[in-house]
Amino acid sequence: MARIGITTTVPVEIILAAGHIPVDLNNIFITSPEASRLVETAEDAGYPRNICGWIKGLYAVVVNKNINANFGGIDKVIAVTQGDCSNTHALMETYELAGIETIPFAYPFDRDYDLLKLQMEKLMDTLGTNWEAVNNVKRRLDQVRLKVAEIDRLTWQENTVSGLHNHLYQVSCSDFNSDVAAFAQDVDRFLAEADNAPEYADELRLGYIGVPPIFTDLYAYLETMGARVVYNEVQRQFAMPFATDDIVEQYRLYTYPYGVFGRIKDIQAEIERRNLDGIIHYVQSFCFRQIEDLILREKLDVPILTIEGDKPGKIDARTRLRIDGFLEMLR
Ligand code: SF4
Repeated sequence: MARIGITTTVPVEIILAAGHIPVDLNNIFITSPEASRLVETAEDAGYPRNICGWIKGLYAVVVNKNINANFGGIDKVIAVTQGDCSNTHALMETYELAGIETIPFAYPFDRDYDLLKLQMEKLMDTLGTNWEAVNNVKRRLDQVRLKVAEIDRLTWQENTVSGLHNHLYQVSCSDFNSDVAAFAQDVDRFLAEADNAPEYADELRLGYIGVPPIFTDLYAYLETMGARVVYNEVQRQFAMPFATDDIVEQYRLYTYPYGVFGRIKDIQAEIERRNLDGIIHYVQSFCFRQIEDLILREKLDVPILTIEGDKPGKIDARTRLRIDGFLEMLR
């Protein structure tokens, strides 16, 4: 049983069916009390200053043995070479330089069913499993995904879940916190609490689009200002609330790897369904996805505030001021 690091959402059912443990390196990085030091560790190793903080964190989490011993270590990494991040190729190369085995996985840009199926089969061969085992795991995970979708529904429809909890439970579906049974229990416990929780009485309903924030206090800050995030776009995609028995189709419906226009359709539908007042578009410093901001602004018919984060930590004063002004404008 190996501990397999992942740099973004991949077909986690395959890792589990092969008897391995998935570990989302992003979640390890951003929840570490030493997240800022991890970024510095990568810069000390020679990562350029003008490279995204997430990439530096992903590097340091795996390569620094003193740090990763705290969470059980990483044996190999599945790196998504197409459909995630333009920096992943070089990240893989620096992993290899440090003696870490990497396994490539590519989402076909045009969502081609056969090519995606082939990629999944290659991953199954590499990790040592088959379709029957993968589909068994899928059925088990679908039960958990259904419950996480209920947390999402309680957020926007019953108004009993905070934006932060909505974010945390959905983003955790990339690796099910490396322990599906424990995660499922935690979800059950949370659902029981949320069912009896009082309704939020916030004035403003926001959507959050873009990669997950490197800021640690964004959701809490918005709530202190009377605005709650009731839609977390990419995190919801990680949780895959799609009703399909076909696992290849499941990973085709997942919008994040296939370009911005598929994402926009999903965002437009949710803006309407969730009755959003405005959108916060988070972009990461030095991320190529910042370019997509101009497309999102042109296509989405709702007020948008674009905010940028660089290193892990609290929201800086300038961004707080911009958020305050945006919320004031929405009122
Ligand atoms: S924020 Fe952008 S540059 Fe950074 S890891 Fe994600 S996709 Fe890559």
